[in-house]
Amino acid sequence: MQSMIRVLEKNVADKIAAGEVIERPVSIVKELVENSIDAGADSIVVEIKNGGKSYIRVTDNGCGIPRNEAEVAFLRHATSKIETAKDLNAIETLGFRGEALASIAAVTHTELISKTKDEKIGVKLLIHGSEVLDSSGTGCPDGTTIIITDLFYNTPARQKFLKSDSAESGQIIDFMSQIALAYPNIRFRFINNGNVTFSTTGKGDLLNAILSVYKLSEYKDLVPVNRCDDLGSVTGYISKPSLSRTTRRNQIFFVNGRVVSSKVIERGVTEGYKERLFEGRYPVVFLFIHTDPEKLDVNIHPNKREVRFDDESQIVELVSTAVKEALGTKAAVIEVKNVF
Ligand code: ADP
Ligand code: MG
Repeated sequence: MQSMIRVLEKNVADKIAAGEVIERPVSIVKELVENSIDAGADSIVVEIKNGGKSYIRVTDNGCGIPRNEAEVAFLRHATSKIETAKDLNAIETLGFRGEALASIAAVTHTELISKTKDEKIGVKLLIHGSEVLDSSGTGCPDGTTIIITDLFYNTPARQKFLKSDSAESGQIIDFMSQIALAYPNIRFRFINNGNVTFSTTGKGDLLNAILSVYKLSEYKDLVPVNRCDDLGSVTGYISKPSLSRTTRRNQIFFVNGRVVSSKVIERGVTEGYKERLFEGRYPVVFLFIHTDPEKLDVNIHPNKREVRFDDESQIVELVSTAVKEALGTKAAVIEVKNVF
């Protein structure tokens, strides 16, 4: 059950690493999708046009926003996810700063349509550059739809820094691919310029989600990773040494549910494959690491994806052992013999 949306007291707001700036279309997609996940949705549809510059729509079947709280949600530091500074130590939601909707609505044309399951009539809001132009009741399904058009229409300086449609949509595709793998229990559907790029079943099977997103038949042969020790657990799928790439683009790491980039995890992977791969070749790797939240620092800038581990060598050891173990399975051994 979602708490009420309220503006954080100033002393709480001041403790939060501030400055969530909407820089690119992908930042908007990320914030909206994370809100949908926090709202408990198990089905999320994302549609973009022109790399998200002209159109972004995110529809979910989550808890919805009560009609009388809809305008509050767009105020800065308005959130239903934390209330006091103490809550900052135990964050279980993806968002908590209460800044995203306010930041997005300030630089776009935003339309919100939302309904909770307890309400008969939903709410529709129209906001242009923070100004509420229309607020009315509307018939709509349970859940939330947010439509963003005309990105940066009132900040031409920022508009200039946008890249080509394909560069912007490339970033959104990467984000959508990663989030769909991080949440195989959620049904994702991603539409780009009218074409369905991928849709997942939401049935919880990771390999199935990987195949739905990447559509590469060679990914059918990925081997499962499953290791647990005192420090934490590593699960996921990795390629046999016979399948490798020239870049790390197909290596995705999640730590406690968040996508991260990490040299430490990369080192663990490299060590795990050791001499089984030629120099300059990188395996395909989707790894989920779960570890005690107290032993890492994710409280860094909202747009950054780095994570800091207290004990780096232990993480390298955990990852490399997990990889070695997975490759030691029968199927992988046979494959290695064929290559060398
Ligand atoms: P935060 O996620 O940090 O709380 P946001 O500005 O992203 O801040 O959202 C403000 C509030 O609006 C959220 O706390 C939540 O209560 C509500 N909200 C936003 N998006 C949704 C959604 N898709 N479904 C339900 N509630 C939402
Ligand atoms: Mg949010």
